[in-house]
Amino acid sequence: MQTKCTLCEHTETIDKHSFKAKRLRNKRISLYLCDACDERITKRTNERIETGNFKLFKCKNNKSILQ
Ligand SMILES: [Zn+2]
Repeated sequence: MQTKCTLCEHTETIDKHSFKAKRLRNKRISLYLCDACDERITKRTNERIETGNFKLFKCKNNKSILQ
């Protein structure tokens, strides 16, 4: 099946039986990232987590969750 990367708009053909294709069909994810972008984002996210300055699930409306 044809799918388009949300970030770089590169069109890719992915195996319709692949895990990504199943997730797209079931609309459990609303965006598709090509392998290059996926790898880049994963690397950046891990780097930010390692700095200790990056908090997952940060919530402005309920700070008590983080305390
Ligand atoms: Zn991409």
